[in-house]
Amino acid sequence: MDVYEFLMMEVRYLKGVGPKRASLFRRLGITSVFDLLYFAPRRYIDRRSITPIHEVRRGQEVTVAGKVLTKGIKKVKGTLVFTVIISDGSDWMELVWRNVRGIDKVFNKDDRVIASGKAYVYRGTKVIYHPEYEIIDEEKPGGSRILAGMFVPVYPSTEGLKPRFVRKLILDVLGKIGDQIPETLPDYIRNKFKLYSRKDAIHRLHFPENLKDARTARTTLVFEELFYFYIKLLEKRIESKGLGIPLMIKNELTTDFLKSLKFDLTGAQKRVISEINSDLEKNTPMHRLLQGDVGSGKTVVALHTMLTAVENGFQAVLMAPTEILAEQHFLVMSEYLFPLNVRMALLLGKMRKKEKQLTIERIRNGDADVIVGTHALIQDDVEFKKLAVAVIDEQHKFGVLQRAKLLEKGFENKSPHFLVMTATPIPRTLALTIYGDLDVSIIDEMPPGRGEVVTRWVREGRRDKVYSWLFDEVKKGNQAYVVAPLIEKSEKLEAEAATELFEKLKNIAPEEIDIGLIHGKMKKDERAAVMRKFRNGDFHILVATTVIEVGIDVPNATIMIIEHAERFGLAQLHQLRGRIGRGAKKSYCILITPSRVSTDAAKRLKAMVETRDGFKIAEIDLEIRGPGEIFGTKQHGIPKFRIANLIRDQKIIQMTRQEVQRILEFDPFLTKPQNHIIKETIENEKIGEVIYVG
Ligand code: ADP
Ligand code: MG
Repeated sequence: MDVYEFLMMEVRYLKGVGPKRASLFRRLGITSVFDLLYFAPRRYIDRRSITPIHEVRRGQEVTVAGKVLTKGIKKVKGTLVFTVIISDGSDWMELVWRNVRGIDKVFNKDDRVIASGKAYVYRGTKVIYHPEYEIIDEEKPGGSRILAGMFVPVYPSTEGLKPRFVRKLILDVLGKIGDQIPETLPDYIRNKFKLYSRKDAIHRLHFPENLKDARTARTTLVFEELFYFYIKLLEKRIESKGLGIPLMIKNELTTDFLKSLKFDLTGAQKRVISEINSDLEKNTPMHRLLQGDVGSGKTVVALHTMLTAVENGFQAVLMAPTEILAEQHFLVMSEYLFPLNVRMALLLGKMRKKEKQLTIERIRNGDADVIVGTHALIQDDVEFKKLAVAVIDEQHKFGVLQRAKLLEKGFENKSPHFLVMTATPIPRTLALTIYGDLDVSIIDEMPPGRGEVVTRWVREGRRDKVYSWLFDEVKKGNQAYVVAPLIEKSEKLEAEAATELFEKLKNIAPEEIDIGLIHGKMKKDERAAVMRKFRNGDFHILVATTVIEVGIDVPNATIMIIEHAERFGLAQLHQLRGRIGRGAKKSYCILITPSRVSTDAAKRLKAMVETRDGFKIAEIDLEIRGPGEIFGTKQHGIPKFRIANLIRDQKIIQMTRQEVQRILEFDPFLTKPQNHIIKETIENEKIGEVIYVG
């Protein structure tokens, strides 16, 4: 078997694994031998020094070694407690397990064991609860003494797989092929960044001589993984060189458009427009991500970009994720574009066949300059006469393939300039990974005239005070949302909670205060009617569920009270708060929670009080939850890494990306001898296309 065959083999076929353990491994993301070798320890236990038992002190992390004197099992209040007493001649101590099935079978009198953990002293007896342990009699099945006198790896929770077993398995595999693991990085790069060879890195990742060793080993493997990620990602850019449609910045239509606005652009909008303009002039297609909080004015930027295409005699398209959004864009844009004699078209899936055919015809003939629509735009029968600019709004709602399909519709097989917009702020370093092939522009400035928003976190003991303050405020003519507790996965229960809250408020509010109710279980028309009344000022207070999270704009609403705010995610709280502070008046967001909340919840609430900056909020959210949970790895194309960690490894991310850019600039097709190894690795290790966000 050649080394690659072995590395790509499923762990199931390794000696001692079998189907059952293989499925446990799969849960950890490990299917092949390769995966197993990249299974990074969470930490290491220092077993270089064994502490004599008589020197063990309370609270110490220790490793002890000794012989089993006796063992015993008993039931205490329904819990099985298993105790082993070991002695090393200097003293004796207990190792104790609670409710661990089968543990009593593991130890026998006179077994020599080594155990690590935190030492406690209970009624004068030294104890380690649930120690990491090893039976070190070599003759015994499963026993070995490899793990004494060294740093021992502790892997991420291997439920059902004994740590000893995993260690031994990895050690076996390394013994078998460890020396043949092929190198992947060119020497000059390894030297430049002081990295180990891959072979050494993998060995030392699992069985380091010291912790510095382990760190360098991990850095090497993270670097290697990101290196190939960026090679594949940035290679695409090179392939698309010369395939774009260079546009002239004539500033004809765009100037008229800007003049017609009732406001001046913000500094951020101007900056982003000039970033986009310099892309549009190139013969390589623009690939740009535009980030900006809700209300930051992305639409104007998109329109400006589209008009540059139109004034060059081309078409531009904007695709939105829902029909409502597409219609809204179409209406807003028509208002601006009609006076400029720009011809528009709207294409939706729900349109009648006849109407749809006509619209498709207009797009094909070039009778429409700016086209707005939904997924209907990427159907096969939609052809553009001369498409040069494609904009996608709320891009995270679209899949990779949908984006690719739109990009295939460019003029004469060229790729249109491409702008994706999102209101979900993503920290820059993360954006570089997720959208590694996109340039990023950020609108980090809100249009002027938006009032301040004060956020307070209040314990429920003061709820009455909050509500009497609320009643005073709405009597002055302000309007308020009161958000009912979030009930995960049950719109029904959530609707009930909102209804209950609504009834309660009606009971305690002064009579002259009108209160409305809106939730997800109401019919669409009913909901629209309630919203209309709220907008008209017929209700002072609107009790709501999270249905108000998106798309609702009532500038006179200046108060938002969120009940059980500890149950909401940070992004959700931020979105909800985005509903107020839309007018010039000062607004208030009050977060009500029980007196005790979890540590994570407290972090979220503190973040809300401290900042309104969507990017800061996103950073903090990322810290609390990790990127996978926020974006959902699959749907949003976050690459799944074997060992790299998007948060921990930001420095390496920047380093590798820069290095890969440098290499590709110098040797775009990787034909120089020193880079041969890169091509070989891609081939041998079947490093595939990176699927990125679309
Ligand atoms: P989003 O970034 O959420 O898509 P929009 O483009 O819809 O934001 O803009 C939100 C509102 O702000 C719109 O009513 C728009 O007309 C207005 N707006 C955009 N830019 C400015 C500006 N520079 N000054 C004042 N108002 C602006
Ligand atoms: Mg928008």
